[in-house]
Amino acid sequence: MTATGRPPSAAHHGAGPAAPGLRWVFNAGYWSRAPQPAHLSGQDQIDAPLDWPGARREHRAHHEAGHVVAALAAGVPVARIWLAPGDDQVAGLGGGTELHLPEAWELAGPILAAGEVAAQRWLLHTGRWSDAAAWAVEMSAADDRRRLAAAAERADLPYVEHHGGWDSACARARQLLAPQWSAVEAIALQLLQEPGGTLDKRAIEDLANVFVIP
Ligand SMILES: [Zn+2]
Repeated sequence: MTATGRPPSAAHHGAGPAAPGLRWVFNAGYWSRAPQPAHLSGQDQIDAPLDWPGARREHRAHHEAGHVVAALAAGVPVARIWLAPGDDQVAGLGGGTELHLPEAWELAGPILAAGEVAAQRWLLHTGRWSDAAAWAVEMSAADDRRRLAAAAERADLPYVEHHGGWDSACARARQLLAPQWSAVEAIALQLLQEPGGTLDKRAIEDLANVFVIP
């Protein structure tokens, strides 16, 4: 669930049903819902479209907070969440969520998808949604997508067909996050303000009263 500079491989995605208003498109060797901006190339520029002040740190904080709240809502404890300190202008700003990812595909999927889902919601809430920004948010979730594909492979599930793959994981993540969006915001905000850039298990649980969704 850490930042990555590489787009997902084409093998990991089918052109199944996408989020409302978005359709899967095939770019130069990989799938995304928002098309790769024409002026961008190279994997070191994945978050170049997030170019307003504070955007990269806010994006990463919401992405990681999404993982945290989805995990807690699924009854999975989170040991730690962190955001790389430093310059907001650094491309591919790092961050991570430390938890024991369940083996079950149905549980792991929404937890992995929740980073991207939270980041999309953050774009919408801040009025910053654009195709380019949406693409950057997806590229930043490439590692999560790969991990879900790997989990499906281990479980011998045909990932592309299985409940629509990434789409179904995102749909479930949206269900988990929607009623607890204030918890996502609270964790993201605290993470942004934390001098050490880290929140431990206790701080996370004190901060947000996340209820478990059966
Ligand atoms: Zn992630």
